[in-house]
This record gives sequence, structure tokens and C-alpha cells, in this order.
Amino acid sequence: MDLIFKCPHCEQELAVNPSGAGSQIECPTCNQTITIPQPEPQSIRSLNPIASSAAAKEVKHFNVPVRTAPTEVLVKNPVRTLDVPTKDGEKKLRVRTIKRTECLEVGHDRFDETVSDLLGKIGLDNVVSVTPITYSHFDLNSRQNMTDYGVLVVYKG
Ligand SMILES: [Zn+2]
Repeated sequence: MDLIFKCPHCEQELAVNPSGAGSQIECPTCNQTITIPQPEPQSIRSLNPIASSAAAKEVKHFNVPVRTAPTEVLVKNPVRTLDVPTKDGEKKLRVRTIKRTECLEVGHDRFDETVSDLLGKIGLDNVVSVTPITYSHFDLNSRQNMTDYGVLVVYKG
């Protein structure tokens, strides 16, 4: 008969081969490492076999394969290699053009804010150059060509 116990972390009822008592397994529901308890001969289950067998039909048990390998193998903590800081040589030069008209919201000119946000994301060390640009576009409201400005940001990233 399977040894039935509850996961102490998520209360999931688990059924394992009694020979696995005392060994460590991974809970299939919450993936936490749990130790299979020793079987208790005087369990409530045996006191009321009819009720427990009825309940057993309704409760879906997970059958957990018991592994006999040493516990160190069961819990694999991958050795994290420290993130090597990206070398400048591995970064690419990138260009981002921000036109002032693209930053206009109703009643607000968010150009400065947008450029500031971008520069903040890039980081001071990665900014190669910030070049002002002017450009003309056809304004639908006034039906004429308008000249506006923006910036061209060259950065490493
Ligand atoms: Zn669990």
C-alpha cells in the first residue's frame, strides 16, 4: 500500500512507495523539496476504513517516483557563473532619432522628457554623441511645410 502524506508546503496529498520513507523528493505541485515521512501505523485512516476508502476515491493522488540516488543529485542548484560585464567591443553602435513632433501629446511637448528618458536608459557611459537635427514635414492643420527639430543619438548598446 502506498504511503500517503501531505506536502508541508502546499498541502498537496502525495502517495509514494513506503520504501521511499525518509528520502527526499520534489513535490510535483509546488516543486519544493520535501522529505517523505515514516509511515504511521496508527493513522486515522486505519481507524475508519470505510470512510477513508470512500475519500480515497475522490482525492486524486499524485504518484511520486522515488529516486534512490543520493539527495545531492535530487536538488540541483545550478552553479551560477557570475555575469561577465559586457565588453565595449561586444556592443553595437546604435542610432536613435527622436523628432519633436513624435513627442507631442495633446497640449504637451514631451520632447525633453522623451530625450531625457532615452539618455537615462542608455546610460552616460554608452552615449557616443547627441546631434541636433532639423527636418521639415507637411503639417496637416496649417497645410504647409513646417520645419521642426529633433536629436540624433548615437550610443553603444
Ligand atoms: Zn508541495
